[in-house]
Amino acid sequence: MRTSIVGTIIKAFEILFDGIRSLIQALSASLPYLFNVNPNTLRKEVTEQYPDPVSSRTVDDLPPRTKGLVQNDIDQCIGCRECAKACPVDCFTIESERLEETQKEWVSLFDIDHSKCLFCGLCVDVCPTNSLTHSKRYEGAAFNRKEMVEGFGRGEPPRRGDYR
Ligand code: SF4
Ligand code: SF4
Repeated sequence: MRTSIVGTIIKAFEILFDGIRSLIQALSASLPYLFNVNPNTLRKEVTEQYPDPVSSRTVDDLPPRTKGLVQNDIDQCIGCRECAKACPVDCFTIESERLEETQKEWVSLFDIDHSKCLFCGLCVDVCPTNSLTHSKRYEGAAFNRKEMVEGFGRGEPPRRGDYR
């Protein structure tokens, strides 16, 4: 009985010290801001303001592997739908047909719903022609969800005798 009381007290102190340690860690991160101490003198800055009022950086200055909004170079797209199969959240709406004359797939509709996109990159990874890529565009805000659907399709197939 006595042992269990001692054990409980020890446990309580462990929890208390854990809490104090967490509090000190949290305060060491936030106190410099509270007292207007430049945190950059304490640690390396990794976050940038947005919109950035100071630097004149553009999207071209973003790292090469930036995962921006997904885009499709429709001329390279063969309408295989591998991207749609890989997408976990059903971002793609694709319609295509095989043209008799060229025996090639004509992708008339290729919509990407950016409002659903998780930027996981699975669609880009599986695209066999590399037509699908992450752009460096990241400003996708809109007033309604329909505006966040971007179309890359080629529209109606050309009339007979007018194939490209
Ligand atoms: S990046 Fe991921 S979520 Fe976005 S369209 Fe591609 S597979 Fe879908
Ligand atoms: S995986 Fe690539 S080639 Fe196939 S439909 Fe999607 S974008 Fe087009």
